[in-house]
Amino acid sequence: MRLEGKVALISGGARGMGAAEARLFASEGAKVVIGDLLEDEGRQTEAQINEAGGECLFIRLDVTSESNWQDVVATTVARFGKLDILVNNAGIFRTERVEDTSEQSWDQVMDVNAKGVFLGTKAAIPEMRKVGGGSIVNISSIAGLVGSPYSSAYNASKGAVRLLTKSTAIQYAREGIRANSVHPGVIETEMTREVVNDEAFRQFRLVTNPIPRLGQPEDVAYGVLFLASDEASFMTGSELVIDGGWTAQ
Ligand code: NDP
Repeated sequence: MRLEGKVALISGGARGMGAAEARLFASEGAKVVIGDLLEDEGRQTEAQINEAGGECLFIRLDVTSESNWQDVVATTVARFGKLDILVNNAGIFRTERVEDTSEQSWDQVMDVNAKGVFLGTKAAIPEMRKVGGGSIVNISSIAGLVGSPYSSAYNASKGAVRLLTKSTAIQYAREGIRANSVHPGVIETEMTREVVNDEAFRQFRLVTNPIPRLGQPEDVAYGVLFLASDEASFMTGSELVIDGGWTAQ
């Protein structure tokens, strides 16, 4: 199994891509902690993984709170003995052009998407150091690579994740701690339900995406699994784009 003996913490793991990653990690032998604001969905995902024979623990986590992160990392280590893998996956999306973005909305998006990744990384590194290394996988977006006609703070936050990943990679490589970013295209989850259900949008993407379909959470989960595993032991500071070819055009 590709994550045998590893302990992983996935933020925003109650549903969507984070839940798909949690299921895949558990099926590959990892003990998985999912941290999320959504308690009902989190407990459902936890139960589903445990019933399937995996080992999973849900803990309530608000990624914008440093003390919450410290508690969740401490609980992970108390329960499973260590921390090898952190997936900073929690995020929120806003379709607001620059002039439509309030200061409050900007701060909220930056807090969850950018500060949340910083705080998670900061909390995890001391535990990874204790076991001689680890893997941090930060979920950015194609919105962290190219601009968008309809979102602003979201792009800024995902661009911040991309470069925080590279700084983390450089600062901790000598301690065996790797950090890589993942850049999904449009993936069918609750976050994108509204746009994906818009028939005009759907048809536009199907016609213009080189691979003519929308992404599924599992498409991203397999990339995250690879980066989390020792198979990627020579990869740090890199960007894995999973977008059906959208940004290659
Ligand atoms: P979902 O909304 O399905 O899942 C995100 C999860 O993060 C939700 O459970 C959400 O809970 C949780 N979350 C939000 N804020 C916080 C917080 N402060 N603390 C803890 N958990 C929180 O989205 P996806 O699975 O689609 O997205 C996962 C990641 O992938 C995000 O970072 C997103 O930006 C990124 N991404 C998504 C793409 C897509 O097309 N779906 C494309 C590219 C990147 P709640 O509902 O309470 O907010």
